[in-house]
Formats: sequence, structure tokens, C-alpha cells
Amino acid sequence: MNKPVEMQNVQTMPLWIGGKHKQATSTRAGEITNPATGRVIGRVPFCNAADIDAAVQSAQRAFPAWRDSPPLRRARVLMRFRELLDQNKDQLAALITAEHGKTLADAGGSVQRGIEVVEFAMGIPHLVKGEHSEEVGTGVDTHSLRQPLGVCAGITPFNFPIMVPLWMFPVALACGNTFVLKPSEKVPSASMRMAELLKQAGLPDGVFNVVHGDKEAVDALLNHPGVKAISFVGSTPIAKYIYETASKSGKRVQALGGAKNHAVVLPDADTEFAADALMGAAYGSAGERCMSISAVVAVGSSADPLVAKLKEKASKLKIGPGDGKDMDMGPLITRAHRDKVAGYVDKGVAEGAKLVLDGRGLKVTEYQDGNFLGASLFDHVKTDMTIYKDEIFGPVLCVLRVDTLDDAIRMINANPYANGTAVFTRSGGAARKFEREIEVGMVGINVPIPVPIAFFSFGGWRNSLFGDQHVHGMEGVRFYTRGKVVTSRWPDANALPTGLNMPTLG
Ligand code: NAD
Repeated sequence: MNKPVEMQNVQTMPLWIGGKHKQATSTRAGEITNPATGRVIGRVPFCNAADIDAAVQSAQRAFPAWRDSPPLRRARVLMRFRELLDQNKDQLAALITAEHGKTLADAGGSVQRGIEVVEFAMGIPHLVKGEHSEEVGTGVDTHSLRQPLGVCAGITPFNFPIMVPLWMFPVALACGNTFVLKPSEKVPSASMRMAELLKQAGLPDGVFNVVHGDKEAVDALLNHPGVKAISFVGSTPIAKYIYETASKSGKRVQALGGAKNHAVVLPDADTEFAADALMGAAYGSAGERCMSISAVVAVGSSADPLVAKLKEKASKLKIGPGDGKDMDMGPLITRAHRDKVAGYVDKGVAEGAKLVLDGRGLKVTEYQDGNFLGASLFDHVKTDMTIYKDEIFGPVLCVLRVDTLDDAIRMINANPYANGTAVFTRSGGAARKFEREIEVGMVGINVPIPVPIAFFSFGGWRNSLFGDQHVHGMEGVRFYTRGKVVTSRWPDANALPTGLNMPTLG
């Protein structure tokens, strides 16, 4: 069978190892597709263990000199990198839109949120400062310091090609580690561009490397003795696998997983405000965000007016190619994923939920091969339905009705996922109760997508994160460093003998 023209001309992208492009030795490869047009726009190699080893070795060689460079010098590289990201923001957003499909404005916003992590990491001379106590015993002082781990690896998902890698490597590099990034094979170009910008910013060769691939590449990273820490963001089953496998081989791991985020709307909330906020939270990025709201818990009398407003607003969303004018929502990542999400709408109907708005029939003229799906809205969803239990990761919003705030809190706390949640209310008391009693990692009060700013940490609870430390903020600094505590004495002629008993310094 003849291949379509676009496929005949597409290039297989290289890896980024030792500060330059390198061809993979593996012959396995995958296709990169533009989700709006359905066209193949590139090929990405699927690395084997030898390719991964080359990248890890390059990072190992670069580690001693980078570790020994003063934190302020590392910070200055990041300052220049931050400027380059800012200057290239439009190009980076366009790369995201071409491979992921989200709108250009949304892509630009995600680049900005990533830049904020670089800005946080630029403060590294202050962030890694230790503590010092003098005279903890007679003539004895103690100080603590934090030192880098060595080679760290990041494995990232398709939905934030710039922002999620930037949650990881700026902090890791600032702390003095070197890094191997394995971006999602569906959206690899943005990571390659960031590697070039890092080099332009003055990062020494080998400190940052990019490999590509699927399970084979990931497994090689998880099992490589030269890799000291793994940061992962992706779906829950893979996060659990990464956590278990990498822990077994003695690595430090943070593995962020999937989500089912609830927004509670109380009867005293401003319905118009809540419905507006929920549009972006549920349908922005076509619902392909780990912090998307996919379940609205309508308390008491809030339900009827809220569902009416949601329907009115969702039916007006402008859906089309991400680089189209004034688009609200682009296509889904692949045809298979689009069909899977549409299948959930079928299932919701079959299971008895009320389909208030049906996005399945959407056609985007001139983009017949794109992975488009309209916005869907379900009412009267129950907690035993598949559309509630599964992470759909698409433009499908489920409304569940409960009688009280306590019922809402109980429902959310019983869900296996616990990434983000929000409450809409005018009552400070209700908001405070929600904040205290909800068992979820990130909470919004009248803020639908409470993604913490970079100097706080990002991470969920339960099946939304495996490991102890969240990404960026001070937890990121702790994850990418290990502590050392030094107790020192400079004996002179008057020093007391030490003896054989347990030392008590006083
Ligand atoms: P995914 O789990 O399929 O893939 C994530 C990464 O793991 C990719 O780099 C992929 O190549 C690799 N991978 C896939 N299958 C693997 C396997 N069997 N063994 C080893 N590695 C494998 O996730 P995705 O579809 O790219 O991203 C969407 C998911 O990510 C959603 O579940 C979403 O909620 C989640 N996510 C979570 C957060 C968060 O902060 N918690 C942020 C963004 C995305």
C-alpha cells in the first residue's frame, strides 16, 4: 500500500545526548500525528537499552563538574534559559498545538506556568542553604547541608509537553543534578527545543539529555544503576508500576498519577460565576488535564439552575483546530482516545445517567480527519456508574446530586483519586470546613483549577501520587537533594576525653 505523501517525507527525530543530536541505534519508531488534521508530521525513535545507557553515561560524566559549580552559577544559566523560554514562547506554544492539539492560548498559558518553575529554581542559592547551630555541646558545632543525587530521570505525559518537564528538570539542575528526560512519544518536539535553549543558555554538554520511546526506554531507565531518582507524571497504573519498579532497584521516586477531580457547588454560590469557572475547568484542553474538573457535586437546590447554565454555556463552546481563531477547545490527542471518550458517553447513557448535552455528533468542516469530539454533559450521575469511576480524560462533565456538604465531602474522600478539588460558596465557614475535612492534595476555594504556583508544591494524594514528595516548591528541592548533617569539634589541649559511652555532647 502506498503511504500518504506526508508520511513519505517525515523525518525521524534524533535524541539529545551530550549537548548534540544523536541518532538512536534502535530501529523501532512511532509516528507523531497532528490531532487536528490527522496527518503524520514526524517520526520518533523508540530507544533501546543501549540508547538509554548512552544518555545516562553522558549525564554521569557531566555530573561532577556541574555538582561542583556554585549554585549561583547554575542559577545564572537558568536565568538565561528563562529569558529564552520567554522569547520563544509563541514558537513553543505552536509546537504544543501541532502535536497535542490544544488551543494556542491554552498552550501559551502552560508555557508560562512552566516558566514560573524556572523562576523558582533561579533562587537555588537561597533554597539549598543549610542550618548551623553553634555550641550544641561544649566546643561542638553542627551544620546541615543538602547535596545533589547524581543522574535524575523524568518521564512525562502527553498533555503538557512543556509544563510537566519544567516541573522537574529546572529544580533538579539547580540542585546540581544532571538529567535524562523521556517525554511522551506523542509530543516529543517541545523537549528537544528546550534542550537546544538550555545549551544556548550556557548549560554544559551532558547535563541535560533527551531520549524517546515507550515501555522499553522507560524500563531501561528504571533499571539503570546510574539513575538515582525518577520523576514520573502520567496515568495511575503506570505511575504505580514506576513507583514499585524503581523503588525496588533502590531509586528515589515521585510518581504522579491520574485524577477524578470534583467541584462542589453549594446553594449559596453564585451560579453564573461557578458555571463560567466550570467551563474552563471541565472543557479547557478538551478535558485532557490532570486538574480538569470531571465531576460536579451539586448540593441541594444548586443543581437545577447550575445544570441549566452549564448546558447553555457548554453548547456555545467554539471547537476546532487549536491554531484556529478564538477556539475554546481543540481535538483529542489520538483517534483511539477520541473513540474511547465517545464510548464513555455511550456507556453513561446505557447506565442510566441523563445526557443533557451530547458532543458525539460534532463535525468540524475541513477537519474531517481530526480527533474532534464536542462537549458532553451528564446529570443524575451515580457513584457506581463507569463514567464516574473511570478517569475519562476528555470533554465529558458529570453532575452528581447530594443533599449536604457532608455528603459531598464523604463522596470525594471515598474516591480512589485525590489530585485536586474545589468548592464554590459564599460562606467562609463552609469553605473552612471543606478545606479541613477534604482528603485531597490540592484544594480550590472558588478557584476551579487550583494548580499551585511554583514556589508551592504540586501533587495529589491516594492514587494520584505514589511517593512522598510533590513536585517543585521546597518538596522538589528536597526530592532532588539529600541531607547531610555535620557535627564538628576542633580539639585543643583542654578537650575532654571521649570515652566509650553514648556521646552526650553537653
Ligand atoms: P501514560 O501513563 O500513558 O504515559 C506517561 C508516560 O509513561 C509516557 O512518557 C509514556 O511513554 C510512558 N509509558 C506509557 N506506558 C508505559 C508502560 N507500560 N511502561 C512504562 N512507561 C510507559 O499517560 P498519558 O496518556 O501520556 O497522560 C495522561 C495521564 O497523565 C492521565 O491519566 C493524567 O491524569 C495524567 N497526568 C497526571 C498529572 C498529575 O500531576 N498527577 C499531570 C498530567 C497528566
